Amino acid sequence: MTDMPLDPHHTGTDAGPGQESPPDVDEGAADGEFRIADLAAVVTDLAVHLEEVHALIRTATAVSSITALRAELEALAARVDELEPPQDEDEAVPEPQAWVDYATAHDWHDLATWTDWLTRTYDVQADHMVLPCWPAHRGVAEELAALRTAWRAAAIAGRGTQPGDAMIDWHARWLHPTLLRVRGEFQQRTCVDRHHPTWVGPPTDPTMLAAAERAATELTDH
Ligand SMILES: [Zn+2]
Repeated sequence: MTDMPLDPHHTGTDAGPGQESPPDVDEGAADGEFRIADLAAVVTDLAVHLEEVHALIRTATAVSSITALRAELEALAARVDELEPPQDEDEAVPEPQAWVDYATAHDWHDLATWTDWLTRTYDVQADHMVLPCWPAHRGVAEELAALRTAWRAAAIAGRGTQPGDAMIDWHARWLHPTLLRVRGEFQQRTCVDRHHPTWVGPPTDPTMLAAAERAATELTDH
C-alpha cells in the first residue's frame, strides 16, 4: 500500500495553489476567502435571520397595538366607573326606603335649599308653585326629593360636551307633571292661604285582612 503512484497534482489540500479550479470559483480563490458557494450559504442564512427579524417586528407591532388597546380599555373603564361606581361586594345593598324615612336634618335642609332655588328659577304659574308648607306633607317631600334626584342626573348630563335632551326631557317628563301632582293630588291643595294639618287615612281593616290571610293559606297549602 506504500507504492501508490504519486499524483504530481495532488498536494493533499482541496484548494491548494495550482489545483484546477471548479468553473464557478474564481481563479484567485484561496483559503480564507469566500467562495460563491459559501456566499450563497451566508445569504441564505441571512435571509432566514431577516425573516426572523420581520417576525419579531410583527410581534412587537402586535404587542404595541395590544398595549395601546389595553390602555384605552383601562381609560374607558375608569370613565365608566366614574359614571357608575362598581358595587363593592362587601357593601350591603340598602333596603328600599322612602326618602322621608331616612333623610337627616341636613338632607331636609338641602332639599329646602333646592326647592327654593326651583321656585326662584322656574317662574311657573302661581297655582303650580310649591307651597311653603311642603315639609309638613310627607308625600310632597317625597315627590320633591325624587324630582331633585332626576334633576341632578339631567343637569349632569346637560353639562356634558355632547348635545343632548336630558334637561328638556326633565322639564317635559318630570318638572311640570310633578308640580301639577304636588298641587293637585295631595292635601296641600287646601293650603293655599295657610297650612292645614294633614290627616292620615285609616289603617287596614284587621277583619278583612284576616279573611284574606285565611284564604291565602288555604290556597297555598293545597
Ligand atoms: Zn300644607
